Amino acid sequence: MRVLLVGGGGREHALALGLAGDPSVEAVIAAPGNPGIAALAEVRAVNPTDPSAVAGLAVEVGADLVVIGPEAPLVAGVADAVRAKGIPVFGPSAEAARLEGSKTFAKEIMTAAGVPTARAHTCTDAASTAEALDDFGPPYVVKDDGLAAGKGVVVTEDRAAALRHAQDCGRVVIEEYLAGPEVSLFVVTDGEAALPLLPAQDFKRVGDGDTGPNTGGMGAYAPLPWAPAGLVDEVMADVVHPTLAEMRRRGTPFAGLLYVGLALTAAGPRVIEFNARFGDPETQVVLAMLETPLAGLLHAAATGTLAAHPPLRWRDGAAVTVVVAADGYPAAPRTGDVITGADRPGVIHAGTARRAADGALLSAGGRVLCGTATGPDLAAARDAAYALVRGVELAGSHHRTDIAAAAVEGRITIPN
Ligand code: AMP
Repeated sequence: MRVLLVGGGGREHALALGLAGDPSVEAVIAAPGNPGIAALAEVRAVNPTDPSAVAGLAVEVGADLVVIGPEAPLVAGVADAVRAKGIPVFGPSAEAARLEGSKTFAKEIMTAAGVPTARAHTCTDAASTAEALDDFGPPYVVKDDGLAAGKGVVVTEDRAAALRHAQDCGRVVIEEYLAGPEVSLFVVTDGEAALPLLPAQDFKRVGDGDTGPNTGGMGAYAPLPWAPAGLVDEVMADVVHPTLAEMRRRGTPFAGLLYVGLALTAAGPRVIEFNARFGDPETQVVLAMLETPLAGLLHAAATGTLAAHPPLRWRDGAAVTVVVAADGYPAAPRTGDVITGADRPGVIHAGTARRAADGALLSAGGRVLCGTATGPDLAAARDAAYALVRGVELAGSHHRTDIAAAAVEGRITIPN
């Protein structure tokens, strides 16, 4: 199989590792890729959000499968353009990707499907915003209605800050605060059949102890030793299958990766958000645990044959990833600094670039790279991931020091 992978972040580096490790894959072509991906794939320049450019590239490279990593190309209709060329594509149509592209649409689907989620109001002016904030009370949850790379959400006790964020965004969804540990569940689906991957947890806040602003994600681990038995079955029955059925009923089936972000509240699991693609950095840990060949799985979802796919196999133990972020991230990341120590197995590139003059590796984004490791248990995987991070030098960089710590120490509890 020849696979064209669209995207160039840490998630795509993890996907490239999984695809290249599948014995049925003859070549991975990544567009635009990054320096880490370039070590295992041919990289091609493309504007990832230009549907006809990506579809043209898929034809040119003779792709048997196109895998779309990020959300922006999906919302722009890249999967539709590739499918129109008769090439199997892993990623939903633009219509179906609205589950991520519009928080209001996602709430509409959840309501219609009876999926448990936070109560919410969509607001576009100061008066309705103030009313919604007072309806729910603090902590206030204010979400940009459109795509915001994980940074459009403000959770705060400060009513003035909540109002300001709403005003900056224009159209927002204001919702009830959900208290309880968070779980990310990835589900591979062809629109009807659906296979859950291992549940993972990520760390959204920039600072230790979940302090500071939200980010795209500062680390992750899988599996979750504290998750209740039966959680995945419950979420498949109460969330995933009703959502997929509602999307089919509307004539816009969702095929690809349905990312279910949940809070495990005293009242049971509640959906915080849907995404229409693999999450970053959870992909790094979930795929590190997957033993089943990745390309075959994604091809089955892309061709409507997932019901016939064998059950997934997982490695024993656990995986942890720790993100190294640039100075100033998330507010104003500094780029262009030299990175050393990154050319080692387990170091996954996210925002990196090669300097043309001498090939030096430079920081080129907010989340620069991550150290990903597996181990016989969570503590061992965590120690190995931090050993990788300690070997990387990047001026001014920062990382959280408590990734997976609460789980290792048995400090995560579900409210009752
Ligand atoms: P989202 O982009 O919707 O995943 O939101 C980013 C982060 O904000 C989530 O991972 C949660 O930590 C937090 N968050 C979002 N919605 C809620 C909510 N209703 N209650 C509590 N925390 C939330």
